[in-house]
Amino acid sequence: LSILGIDIGGTKSIVGVADESGKLLAHKRILTPNVLGPDINIGMILPAADEVVQQAGDCISAIGIGCGGPLDRKTGTLHAVANLPGWEGICLTEIFSEQFDAPAYLDNDATAAAMGEAMFGAGVGVEDLVYLTVSTGIGGGIIIGGKPYRGCGENAGEFGHAKIVPDGPPCNCGDHGCLESLASGTSIARIARESLAANPKSTLHTLASSPDDITAELVAKAAAQGDEYAFRVWSEAMYHLGLGVANAVNVLNPRLVVIGGGVTKAGDMLFEPVREVVRQRAMKPLVADVEIVPAANGDLVGLMGAFAIAIENRMQWK
Ligand SMILES: [Zn+2]
Repeated sequence: LSILGIDIGGTKSIVGVADESGKLLAHKRILTPNVLGPDINIGMILPAADEVVQQAGDCISAIGIGCGGPLDRKTGTLHAVANLPGWEGICLTEIFSEQFDAPAYLDNDATAAAMGEAMFGAGVGVEDLVYLTVSTGIGGGIIIGGKPYRGCGENAGEFGHAKIVPDGPPCNCGDHGCLESLASGTSIARIARESLAANPKSTLHTLASSPDDITAELVAKAAAQGDEYAFRVWSEAMYHLGLGVANAVNVLNPRLVVIGGGVTKAGDMLFEPVREVVRQRAMKPLVADVEIVPAANGDLVGLMGAFAIAIENRMQWK
C-alpha cells in the first residue's frame, strides 16, 4: 500500500507517491500560480496526482495534504490563506478522498515539514525539534517529545513573527520588526533595493537588470563575490535570523533546529553566521544541546511533510 502526498503552494505544487517508510516512488511538480484561483489549480493538481498514482502502480491507503495555514485540520478545510486567495472554505480532504477512495488528511505545511524531517529527514530519532522555513516568508513547526506541537488554536510555530527589532519595518502580519520583515527572501531583496541607489559601486547594479529583479539569491551571490553593500545587507539579515533562532532555542530547548526553504540554498553563507549568533546570544547550556542543520528533504520538504501527515494520522487510528 502507498501514500499519496500533495504539497500545495501559491506558485507551485508537488504531488507524489511513497511507500509507508517514506520511500519516494513517483513525484511531479506543477505550476499552480495563485492568480488562477482554486478551481483551475485543483483541476491541474488532480490529474497530476492521478499520473503519479498510475506511475507508482499501487493502491493508495492514505492521502496527506500540506498547505499554508490558517486551516481547520479537523474538517480538512482552508480558512482565508494569504497566498491562496479564493480558497477559503474549500474542503480539500473531501476532494482528494473522493477521487482516490482513501482517507485524506490536511495539515499546515510548516508543521508537516517538521514532521517530514523528524520521520524521514535530518531529525530521525530526535524527539525535540524546531523546523524553520526561510523563503518568501518565514514559518515554522515544532516537534516536542516526538509529536507535533500545535497550540490551542493550532497556530503555534510562527517564528517568522517573533519580534526582533522594536521599531523595525512593517510586516505582513500587521505588526512591525518581526523576523519575517527582516530575514525572509522577500525582505532581504526589499532591504537590498532600498539603499541600492545610495551604493552606486555595488555589483547588484549590474547583476540585476533592474532593482525589481533583485532577489535574496542575488544578494547572497554578490556578497560571496565580495560586494561590500550586498555583504552588509546579507550579514544583517543573517544576524536577525540568528536572533530568531536563538529565541526559539531559549524557549524550547530543542536538540535540533532544521532550516529549510529557498534562502537556505545559500548554504554555509546562511548556516555559519546563524550558528555563530546562536552561540553568542542563546543561553550556554541550551547552545550545548542544539545543532542547527539544513533540511535533509531539500526541495521535497513539503512533499515529505505531506507523507508524514498521512502516516501520523494512520498511526492514530491503530
Ligand atoms: Zn509579523
